[in-house]
Amino acid sequence: MDDAGHMTPDAFRRAGHAVIERIARYMEEVKRYPVLSRAEPGSVRARLPEAAPETGEPFADVLRDVDEIILPGITHWQSPNFYAYFPANASGPSILGDLLSSGLGVQGMLWATSPACTELETHVLDWLVDLLGLPEGFRSSAAGGGVIQDSASSSTLTALIAARERASAGAANRHGVGLGPAGRGAGRLTVYTSRHAHSSIEKGVKIAGLGRENLRLVDADGRHAMRADALEAAIAEDRARGATPAMVCATVGTTSSGAVDPLRAIGAVCRRARVWLHVDAAHAGSATVCPEQRGLIDGLELADSYTFNPHKWLLTNFDCSCFWVADRAALIEALSVLPEYLRNEATESGAVIDYRDWQVPLGRRFRALKLWFVIRHYGAEGLRAHVRHCVALAEWFAAQVEASGEFELAAPVSAGLVCFRHRAGDAFNEALMNRLNESGALYLTHTKLDERLVLRLAVGAVATRRAHVEGAWSRIVETAQALAAAGA
Ligand SMILES: *Cc1c(COP(=O)(O)O)cnc(C)c1O
Repeated sequence: MDDAGHMTPDAFRRAGHAVIERIARYMEEVKRYPVLSRAEPGSVRARLPEAAPETGEPFADVLRDVDEIILPGITHWQSPNFYAYFPANASGPSILGDLLSSGLGVQGMLWATSPACTELETHVLDWLVDLLGLPEGFRSSAAGGGVIQDSASSSTLTALIAARERASAGAANRHGVGLGPAGRGAGRLTVYTSRHAHSSIEKGVKIAGLGRENLRLVDADGRHAMRADALEAAIAEDRARGATPAMVCATVGTTSSGAVDPLRAIGAVCRRARVWLHVDAAHAGSATVCPEQRGLIDGLELADSYTFNPHKWLLTNFDCSCFWVADRAALIEALSVLPEYLRNEATESGAVIDYRDWQVPLGRRFRALKLWFVIRHYGAEGLRAHVRHCVALAEWFAAQVEASGEFELAAPVSAGLVCFRHRAGDAFNEALMNRLNESGALYLTHTKLDERLVLRLAVGAVATRRAHVEGAWSRIVETAQALAAAGA
């Protein structure tokens, strides 16, 4: 400790090495832990002291408590046997990039508050336009540009706000009046998404003050993808009632089943109706680093905004959600305010990007650093290899499901996600999932498709190899046989 009670650089060095060592050991050992934490509600808090310490404690004691109190309360997202929800990749270069970001302690709200924080972010998001095969219009050298948000929920909320402003300006021009803040009654703004879209759309609609009653859930086809004709009809119906359609959110890879909304057809509807099209590819978006997966985003050039999460499947630690717009002026107009204390020469010159105008909060972390580390460590080749490896394992698993008599696929395999079920019905599938998860050997979650319970296996953890997926399949078959024998 120094005279002010701070950790000296030398003490930091020693403690820091111990933390890195702890993380490295975790990477080696994570395969041995039960994937789903067995903690009971309140069990972690019960082991923590009632009050904060009055005097500082040795760092080694803190680390010891991490092992004894914290780790038993962790569900191991980095386990090779984690197949629940969608993956949340953490990779070596990303962890180190995030650590460095903490070490530099940069706050990148304006270009002027750390030029490299802004410029690296703009540059890496331009790189991703190439790497992912995104439309040219999303580039910062065109009218668009990209920004890193904390989550896809924030990306979608930001898109909603920009779309709301554009639509209400248009409506005010047509009706000669401004809209009320809640957008109720005649001239209210409406938003469209599929029945299978993520809950963050509904949450964004609530936060943006548009009113839950103005969100339309458009019908889906047999593959759970939004029907463009149903969308067009819903928009026409609302227009006839005097509403102003503001935004359509299409999904590439729904959370439930990996369904892909037809962007080209939806985009054509949005162009005709002059409605903002936002595309949520939170998980599946990573797949388009592979040219053979670009069909997922066919028609994306018709979109006004797009988001995907490197923090799901592109080897980058949470939080890191990339968000692009085709017209950055619309976004900045919607979100920019300039108090005196933030005025500065660079901003006034108009030559720089101030990312505070591209997001809801003012302050922002240096997230581009970890994404840059990841892209440089793996190269485009390494990123593609990761996606292809996961996709191949998911396809192998799906082939076992199809070949088995007892199990069946419940949806087409999509971007590393397999939806399947045992033919014995909902109660059996639920019991099977619970027994598998309680065993600690693997962790998977469920959804409902066509009113039936479906198990989801999402392959994406960095450590997952062929042997793990084979082990998961054997375990699933054996557990189902044991359950059936017990008459479940
Ligand atoms: C995971 C997911 C989200 C939410 O992502 P956050 O970054 O946690 O907000 C949104 N949409 C889809 C399709 C998702 O799979």
